[in-house]
Amino acid sequence: MLMKYNNNLSKTTKLDILYLLYNFFNEFVKDFENVCHPGCSTCCTVDIVCTTLEVSFLLKKYQISKDIFPTIYYRPSISINESAKLYINAKTPKPETSQRALTPCPLLTEDGLCSVYEYRPFACRAMMSRTICKQGKEADIHPFLIYVSLVFMQIIEHLDKDGYTANLWDILKNDNKYFVKNTQFPGILVPFEYRARIKSMIRRILNLELDGNKLSYYLDISI
Ligand code: SF4
Ligand code: SF4
Repeated sequence: MLMKYNNNLSKTTKLDILYLLYNFFNEFVKDFENVCHPGCSTCCTVDIVCTTLEVSFLLKKYQISKDIFPTIYYRPSISINESAKLYINAKTPKPETSQRALTPCPLLTEDGLCSVYEYRPFACRAMMSRTICKQGKEADIHPFLIYVSLVFMQIIEHLDKDGYTANLWDILKNDNKYFVKNTQFPGILVPFEYRARIKSMIRRILNLELDGNKLSYYLDISI
């Protein structure tokens, strides 16, 4: 059956959809084991990769002073969907050359709280560790949740397919030298054991409603 999509989404509609996606993610992951708590902030570093749409969402509420912008941080050379597209076509992306800086995020308060918590990018939301993180080490994220987050990042990039992916600070500086073009959702890259659950989650996302329409009306994603 041919599906009719609305391909000309306004910025406001995209931001509303992003808000729905963030809320759905919060609800979806709330019962997964994790030890994260307010004030625990080893995961909060300057290496935040996000989309231009997520930064627009953040700037709806907050003004970020240039005085706190860091200068050294990780810069991605490819978007999540572009990378997924390569893997789906049995190709391998070039290895990243940018190094993680791992210095604390300037948006942390003295108490180790996020000063933009409700509007933080998705990459920050995806940090849910089963053990307290150690400096410089990977978070201990449930393997299924890693794929859940990957798919969310893909959907967010798809929603912002006319936009860009970059480090948060480069987007805030509007330094497009380091922007990588976003790409539409190419399909999922999920191990067999998680496929049915992930597909069911995507169906639930596409059934969310905005202004009387399901998200499947706004997002031309097929699984
Ligand atoms: S991801 Fe790690 S550092 Fe971040 S809040 Fe959770 S346990 Fe703490
Ligand atoms: S934006 Fe907030 S949640 Fe994200 S790294 Fe910075 S302080 Fe942490």
